[in-house]
Amino acid sequence: MLPAFLDSMVELITRTSTDLPPDVRAAMKAALRTEEPATRAGQALTIIAQNIDQAASCDGPICQDTGMPTFEVTVPVGANQIWMRSQIREAVAEATRRGKLRPNSVDSITGENSGDNLGPGTPIIHFDQWDHSDIEVKLILKGGGCENTNAQYSLPAELDHLGRSDRTLEGVRKCILHAVWKAQGKGCGPGAVGVCIGGDRTSGYLHAKEQLFRTLDDTNPDPRLAAIETSVMEEANRLAIGPMGFSGQTTLIGCKIGALNRLPASFFVSIAYDCWAFRRLGVHLDAASGSITQWLYREGTTTSQPMLPPEVVAAGFPRTGREIPLQAPISLDQVRSLKVGDVVLISGRMFTGRDAVHAHLMKHDPPVDLRGGVLYHCGPVVVKEVEPQGEDGWRVTAAGPTTSIREEPYQADILDRYGVRIVIGKGGMGSRTLAGLQKSGAVYLNAIGGAAQFYARCIERVAGVSLMQFGTPEAMWHLDVRDFPAIVTMDAHGNSLHKDVEEASGAVLEGLKR
Ligand code: SF4
Repeated sequence: MLPAFLDSMVELITRTSTDLPPDVRAAMKAALRTEEPATRAGQALTIIAQNIDQAASCDGPICQDTGMPTFEVTVPVGANQIWMRSQIREAVAEATRRGKLRPNSVDSITGENSGDNLGPGTPIIHFDQWDHSDIEVKLILKGGGCENTNAQYSLPAELDHLGRSDRTLEGVRKCILHAVWKAQGKGCGPGAVGVCIGGDRTSGYLHAKEQLFRTLDDTNPDPRLAAIETSVMEEANRLAIGPMGFSGQTTLIGCKIGALNRLPASFFVSIAYDCWAFRRLGVHLDAASGSITQWLYREGTTTSQPMLPPEVVAAGFPRTGREIPLQAPISLDQVRSLKVGDVVLISGRMFTGRDAVHAHLMKHDPPVDLRGGVLYHCGPVVVKEVEPQGEDGWRVTAAGPTTSIREEPYQADILDRYGVRIVIGKGGMGSRTLAGLQKSGAVYLNAIGGAAQFYARCIERVAGVSLMQFGTPEAMWHLDVRDFPAIVTMDAHGNSLHKDVEEASGAVLEGLKR
C-alpha cells in the first residue's frame, strides 16, 4: 500500500479548508479594489480579506461551515480504489478531530450528528481512471448556505423579471442571471456559478459542480459558452447585489459553463452556486508512495500571497467613526433607535441558536433568560481545551453566521415569547420576521458570512453551553464578545435592506431581458 497516502489526504483537506487558492484570492482582491472602503460593501470585503489572511496564518477553517467534502480521484489502471476510499474516509475523520472540518454529517432521519463527518453519502468520493502513472486528487468544500442557493431549471420556463426562457443559449443566459438574482446575499456573495446545460436532473447538477474545478481566470474552449460566460459576468455585476447582498459593484467572481447531451424531451439548466469561500485544491501523488509531488491550482508555489498588509489585518474591523456601540442586554429604546444601514459593535453576552435550538424553543422554555438578549444564528467550530491545572474549557476556532432564512417559520414567535432584541445571521429573513421585529421591538443584523476567523477573534470567552444533546454546531453556546461588528439590515420600523436590494436588482434584471 501507499505509506504516505493518508498524510497526503489530511494535508490536502487541511490546506483546502484553511487557505484559498491564488485564483480566488486574485478575484477577491479585484473586488476589494472595486468597492469604496467606507461603504457597506467595502467594509464587508475588508473583513472577508482579513478573515482569509487570518485563516491561512493560523491554519484555521476559513468558514465554520467547512462544507461537504467532495473528492474527485483519478488513478492509474489497477490502483486499489477500495483501499483509497477507506483511507480518504479516515483522513476526513482525522481532519475533523484536528478541528479543520466541523462535524457536518447529520443523520437525515434522526438529526444525529455522526461527529466525524462520516456517514452514508459523506464524504462524496468519485473515482476515474487515466493512462498516467500518478494519482490526481481534487477536493472541493462547499458549504450549506451556497448549496441551498443552487438552482435547476427545466426549459422552457417563465422567469421573474426576464419572461420566457426558451431552449436556446439565450434561455440559458436568462436562467443563470435569474439564479444569481434569486441567491441575493444568501449564498455569501460575491459568488461563482458552475453551470451545466443538459444532462438529466442528476448528471446536470454533478456536471455543474464539476465546473467549479476550473480556475476562475480560464477561458472556456467552446467559444459559444465563453461568450455567455463573459456576458453573464458583466450583466450579473450590473445587478449591484454586491458582497453579502449589501449592494455594491461585485456580485459574481466567476461563471463556468459546461454542456452534456440530453434527452430530446428534457432541457435542464443546472446551476451550482459557490460562495466567496471558494475552497478547492488538488494534488498529484506518487503512485508508489502516495506522497504529494505537485499542488494543483497553486501555480508551482505553496506560499499564498496575503490579501492585505499585516497591519491592516491586525487593526481589525475597519471603522469609519459612525459605528454604534451596543452592550448586551439591549433595551427597547436602543433597538428602536437603530435603522437600516447602521453599523453596530456588540459587546457582552450572546447566545448561538440555529435549526435545532429554534425548533426546541417552539416547544420548551429557553435554558437561559433571553430578555434583551442577542441570538446569533451560528454553528461554531468549538474545541475542548484540556488544562493541565484548573478546569477544562471550550475554545471557539471558527464562528461566522449561518443562513437565517431557515429560521423564518420560528423567528417571529421566538421574539414574541422570549423578548430577544437582536437576531444576528446572514442573508436576511422574510416578511413574517420583519413583521415580528416591528411587533416585538427587535432588529436583525447581518454579519459577514464566512468570516469565521474574524468573528472567532471577537469572542473573549465561552461562558457556557446549553442543549449539548444537539451536538456541537447545534448547541446553544453562551459567548462573551467584544466589538462584534454587524449591519442593521432589518429594523424595528418595518424596513429591510434585503427587500430594497432585491427590488432594485429585480428592476435591473428586467432591463436585461433582450
Ligand atoms: S461562506 Fe457562507 S455560504 Fe460559504 S460555506 Fe461559509 S457560511 Fe456557507
